[in-house]
Amino acid sequence: MIVETAKPKVKCDASGCNNACNYQIVNKKFVFDGSVYLCEKCLNELYGEIGRYIKPKNIKPIYKKGGKDE
Ligand SMILES: [Zn+2]
Repeated sequence: MIVETAKPKVKCDASGCNNACNYQIVNKKFVFDGSVYLCEKCLNELYGEIGRYIKPKNIKPIYKKGGKDE
């Protein structure tokens, strides 16, 4: 699954949202075949929701007591 910037020719796919899209989620193996278009606001909302369940993996702990740098 990839997220790309999209030209705002299409409206955001979120129901009730009439903004022009800024991003598209492309995945041909997912439940939908094609792209989902989202505006910046809805993408941020989605990201916030995802963040409740999934934590980013590549963030190193800020405080490392007595640890050596790798
Ligand atoms: Zn939207």
